[in-house]
Amino acid sequence: MRDHSHRTRARTRTRTAAVGACAALALSLTACGQNSDGGGNGGSGGDAEGGTIGIAMPTKSSERWIADGENMVKRFEAAGYETDLQYGDDRVENQVAQIENMISKGHEALVIAAIDGSSLTNVLGRAEDAGIPVIAYDRLIRGTGSVDYYATFDNFKVGELQARYIVDALKLEEDGGGSDEKFNLELFAGSPDDNNTGFFFRGAMSVLKPHIDDKRLVVRSGQTEMNQVTTLRWDGGTAQKRMDDLLSRYYGSERVDAVLSPYDGISIGIISALKSAGYGTKAKPYPVVTGQDAELASIKSIIAGQQTQTVFKDTRKLAEQAVRMTDAVLKGDEPEVNDTESYDNGVKTVPAYLLEPVSIDESNTELLVDEGYYTADQLR
Ligand code: BGC
Repeated sequence: MRDHSHRTRARTRTRTAAVGACAALALSLTACGQNSDGGGNGGSGGDAEGGTIGIAMPTKSSERWIADGENMVKRFEAAGYETDLQYGDDRVENQVAQIENMISKGHEALVIAAIDGSSLTNVLGRAEDAGIPVIAYDRLIRGTGSVDYYATFDNFKVGELQARYIVDALKLEEDGGGSDEKFNLELFAGSPDDNNTGFFFRGAMSVLKPHIDDKRLVVRSGQTEMNQVTTLRWDGGTAQKRMDDLLSRYYGSERVDAVLSPYDGISIGIISALKSAGYGTKAKPYPVVTGQDAELASIKSIIAGQQTQTVFKDTRKLAEQAVRMTDAVLKGDEPEVNDTESYDNGVKTVPAYLLEPVSIDESNTELLVDEGYYTADQLR
């Protein structure tokens, strides 16, 4: 395990050298700007005393990552930092190049939501050599000792909430579970290169498997292993195609009663396939379809009676947590963590702070308005 105090010393060395270089250049009127290596030199306007934080987010194709980025920028700025926010467009090579660039610019720290959790080993080795601390954001970065802390939600619980919703909606455990009524279920998982995917799926299967084993839940496709049901890059179109295929191959005159979906964008794809196959009528109602992220389109879909459930993860709180952790690391303090066991990345167990996810269905969409996540108008 890498020694954190060593990392802090390395960082101090790098910063001291950079500040020295700035002092030398100051005579020639070349400002070491607030975006540059020295940071902390005040600069004009007097903000950004903490220097610049590199924020690498995966994609703008989902609202949540846009909100995550914006929330972090706001909070880092309020804490006296400048920010360099980049989106990788779901392409690993873009994200690696963006992080390389952040390291070259001498940013003080990196906050990264990885596109592929296992592709950052080399580039983060360079961050470590430069003494730049790394916070994994929402998704664990795997296969490297060069990640200091991890801010996320209780990912296993996300899967449990989705599955528990299905079990309760189908009343599988009512009256002691004595009924022998059977229901058809299909399973979807997230992107195979995202560490969260396994946590969500295992969490869900911890609740569903006993009912699959006792045959109250029937997976007609037989696809119950995670590697049979993943969705590369969480792509809704890919999920839609798979659902089309499942419906035409396995559901002639049968109906699907529930679909485990790990993410709202995937749920929307699944619902499109269901609609094309004639679901959404009185005679053939939509199955229970779960989701995650409480994205606006899905909340509207829930209100309209299509998607059934989602999991709300307050990205404002996650951003706040990541900013607090980064600030603590940069000040040489110990960031607050509440999990030091669950997130082994193959090289080290990364100390983590887990936030609580909340299940949402048509009965409690108001919570999102009460919490100020959406306005009442947005939900209309
Ligand atoms: C996040 C989810 C999100 C998914 C797709 C996961 O890593 O934890 O909140 O739905 O990525 O963007």
